[in-house]
Amino acid sequence: MSDCIFCKIASGDIPGDIVYQDDRVIAVNDIDPKAPVHILIMPKKHIPSLNEIDDSNKDIMAHILTVAANLAKAKGVAEKGYRIVNNCGVQGGQSVEHIHFHLLGGRSLAWPPG
Ligand code: AMP
Ligand code: ZN
Repeated sequence: MSDCIFCKIASGDIPGDIVYQDDRVIAVNDIDPKAPVHILIMPKKHIPSLNEIDDSNKDIMAHILTVAANLAKAKGVAEKGYRIVNNCGVQGGQSVEHIHFHLLGGRSLAWPPG
């Protein structure tokens, strides 16, 4: 999608602090980190939100979570623990309409979130 910032990072049109990528997924350090480890993991293909996940594209979800688990280990937060967050829609707090999962770790995280 031409005006999507995460599509532009995935295509290389604008720089991102890339920590992992393969043919389907890209992971970047969040530009405004909320924890010592704050990585965004997303499909390279434009999918607006979790509302657009169905049987036709559900495989990407398993892949994203596998990448998240691998990154948690690589960043040294797997043992102490971390959180995977997807904000969906306005009330969910989604600000970029290209589905992404936050990997947050490196400090204790409060519950419930605000
Ligand atoms: P959300 O509010 O769940 O949609 O999350 C969007 C996230 O994208 C926020 O945590 C932003 O800090 C982050 N973000 C926005 N622009 C960029 C960028 N160019 N590179 C990395 N992270 C970004
Ligand atoms: Zn996009």
